[in-house]
Amino acid sequence: MTSTSNASTTAPRDEEARAIYDLSEGSIEMKPLLGGKGANVAEMMRLGVPVPDGFTVTTAACVEAMDKGGEWPEGLWDGIQEALGRLEERTGRKLGAAENPLLVSVRSGAVISMPGMMDTILNLGISDESVEALGKEADSPRFAWDAYRRFIQMYGEVVEQVPAHVYEDALAAMKSDRGVEQDTELSAEDLQELVQQFKDLSREHMGEELPTDPREQLRRSVDAVFKSWLNPRAGVYRKANGIPDDLGTAVNVMQMVFGNRGDTSATGVCFTRNPATGAKELYGEFLLNAQGEDVVAGVRTPKPLAEMEQVLPDAFRELVDTMKRLEEHYGDMQDMEFTVEEGKLYLLQTRNGKRTASAAFKVARDMVEEGVLTREQALRRIEPAQLDQLLHPAIDPEHGQEPITKGLNASPGAAVGEVVFDAETAERRGKAGDAVVLVRWETSPDDIGGVIVAQGVLTAHGGMTSHAAVVARGMGKPCVAGASGLKIDAKGKTLTIGSTTLREGDTITLDGSTGEVYEGALKLVPPQVNEDFSTIVGWADEVRRLQVRANADNGDDAKRAREFGAQGIGLCRTEHMFMDESRLPAVRRMILAESDEEREAALAEILPMQQSDFEEIFTAMSGLPVTVRLLDPPLHEFLPNLVDQALHVQRLELQDGDQRELAEARHLLAQVKKLTEQNPMLGTRGVRLALMYPEIPQMQVRAIVRAALKVKADGGDPHVEIMVPLVAFDEELRRMREIIDETVAEELEQAGQELPYTVGTMIELPRAALRADEIAEHADFFSFGTNDLTQTGIGISRDDAEGAFLSLYVDQDIVKRNPFSSIDRDGVGDLVRIGCERGRSVKPDLKLGVCGEHGGDPASIGLFNEIGLTYVSCSPYRVPIARFAAALAVLDQRERDEQ
Ligand code: ADP
Ligand code: MG
Ligand code: MG
Repeated sequence: MTSTSNASTTAPRDEEARAIYDLSEGSIEMKPLLGGKGANVAEMMRLGVPVPDGFTVTTAACVEAMDKGGEWPEGLWDGIQEALGRLEERTGRKLGAAENPLLVSVRSGAVISMPGMMDTILNLGISDESVEALGKEADSPRFAWDAYRRFIQMYGEVVEQVPAHVYEDALAAMKSDRGVEQDTELSAEDLQELVQQFKDLSREHMGEELPTDPREQLRRSVDAVFKSWLNPRAGVYRKANGIPDDLGTAVNVMQMVFGNRGDTSATGVCFTRNPATGAKELYGEFLLNAQGEDVVAGVRTPKPLAEMEQVLPDAFRELVDTMKRLEEHYGDMQDMEFTVEEGKLYLLQTRNGKRTASAAFKVARDMVEEGVLTREQALRRIEPAQLDQLLHPAIDPEHGQEPITKGLNASPGAAVGEVVFDAETAERRGKAGDAVVLVRWETSPDDIGGVIVAQGVLTAHGGMTSHAAVVARGMGKPCVAGASGLKIDAKGKTLTIGSTTLREGDTITLDGSTGEVYEGALKLVPPQVNEDFSTIVGWADEVRRLQVRANADNGDDAKRAREFGAQGIGLCRTEHMFMDESRLPAVRRMILAESDEEREAALAEILPMQQSDFEEIFTAMSGLPVTVRLLDPPLHEFLPNLVDQALHVQRLELQDGDQRELAEARHLLAQVKKLTEQNPMLGTRGVRLALMYPEIPQMQVRAIVRAALKVKADGGDPHVEIMVPLVAFDEELRRMREIIDETVAEELEQAGQELPYTVGTMIELPRAALRADEIAEHADFFSFGTNDLTQTGIGISRDDAEGAFLSLYVDQDIVKRNPFSSIDRDGVGDLVRIGCERGRSVKPDLKLGVCGEHGGDPASIGLFNEIGLTYVSCSPYRVPIARFAAALAVLDQRERDEQ
């Protein structure tokens, strides 16, 4: 078995590599050079699966051309002509000749598949000379003229930048002139006339004749495919999928086979398993008498593959055998394109099929049970970035509403959003944070920007294997396709379904799992983790080294986290307990206290409340460690906002009302003013606040100890870890530790009990990372607070950055990714590494963890594994993802070590 997913993505740049390979010379091992499409077609040829003959221009040639501003590598054109000559010899045909003409397709094909994002030209080689011969050969002049007009249309658009509507308008005018509805109703003569019109229109737009020499067309087509790597939609797709911009595309030149040579010909797409659910069943679509583009572009809604058995039984059987064979060969679910020319089957493409996350888990599990994959191989079949999809909510099954229409369930999941009719609007509103559903007759690859930000996609045309559906599934976007009941008026911005009319901005709900569409917003319920997922995460547990904890601030979250497999709590924030409405008055009394006695009285009110929270958490996590962080935010966060309070005072003054109320309001305002800071993130908070008001941490520590003792008395087993936030200097921690230790000792003495506990610190300031050796003297553990470490390490305030320059930085590639969602490996990541090294230099068994959102991000987890942390901590729902990603990190590391 060949493993395709492990193939590296960069082409070797050695001098030996040629710029062109015949398909018969290639194999899947050459994927970095030949691109996925070329390598897989070559591999199929090697296996004896029927494919059209051809050759591939390498990705390295494309990269070289890109590097030189578009200029081709020396000798490339000669090489292409020689390869063409060999192909002509093998097929006994000549490109564009008046007798035995050879027609080819010129297909893009990158190393990492980007369905529909780059360009492909079909039917190249048809010309005034060859069109007659082709018509005779097929015994259908109509077929030949149709191929000719399709060629000019595709070539003109893709290679010569003639706007698509120019040809579409002419075609529409011709149909209305002849009084017909369908393209297929146009006669050979009509099409011949249309070819002439297309040529004239092309000249008008190009300012020169459309080249008539097929070799020149070939040269320009190869160049256009190279350049399509840089087209905007491909760029958007790469960004959304984290594909590097410098890989380039290969170009495949292959003999055309025709699915449109009458009713014994067909074209289609199939998957070896259902890519939406993972079920092992026949999944695919085909169209009789059609060319490949018709299916994948979603222009005509095709028929289910099962129906092919009746009309083309032999080709059908061969296809089913081939599916089985290829799936076994690659050890993964395949997505294939095929064409039947006069009863004979050809495969045009195979690749590891894009699938939803739940399908990925089912397929992986089934393939292990079928004995095709080992458990570790199965883990490698799942893309960690996809795991996010499992966190998407589903429609509440109890909704009891009638759908307004139903289409194909092209990509599962629930989407609620306002209807928009074009990709630009979707992109603009989606980026502004609005929930929108993109509704289109059919989606074109140019809609990609809108698809990425939309909650879901609804189309009137197109099947389960259209590019829209493939892309949506890959991104985990719910999609309902081919809902033929839709009448869309994109100009008037309305959508009519039966008697219901919806306007832009009206809300709809899509159920991508059933294909149903509802008016309004249906209630959604949290995601369910299914059995396939649990099984595979169980396999991940056998492989991973990192422990996974959860961030949880209350008993319910702690329980849920434990259900998801958390091995403790890495961060229990205590401030959320302060924010609770019933507690805020006491918290404010504490802050506003004029004297120590007043403050202590308020704290005494808060203590039992904190204690009961801790009891719930310790109970839920009995037997597992719980890291409680002492109060972190600045005090003004518990007070009203300055402007609001000033207005409130002013209002009371004007009303001339209750004097006591006014006095209180003024006092509060004065206090708010006093506590308001220029830069609260860097102000009086964390350990700084605790050292200013030691009675606050003392109260918290008492609450922790009393809660632990209570839980212990009730038969529980609390593992207490007390954590100090925002330490920059070792002296801060030394003093805090003294306060904590003294308070614990007092409590234990009073209770006459014992309680093991540890004291550690957050490392979330660059100084702390750099002086970690000194700080470690006073710490039993470190927890890297990578959210704040990112803010302070890079020097950006998250709230101010994300809505402003940071998104521009990401768009313009100044930074690769938002450093708040995926850790900045080189900068902030290095601070973590330094912190670990220096900390462990004085305490080799220092426990090291990460809390903060990066703890649930697969890419960041890879780094944390590499650095050698003890655990990551993330939100409860992300725990399974982190468990899985931690296993992949081990497998990746192993692979790197072996290289
Ligand atoms: P994409 O990456 O957009 O799928 P492809 O290169 O696969 O582009 O081509 C688009 C369509 O044209 C596909 O349906 C494919 O099967 C069809 N096609 C490509 N080459 C040939 C060929 N030589 N003969 C017949 N159909 C072809
Ligand atoms: Mg394709
Ligand atoms: Mg912090």
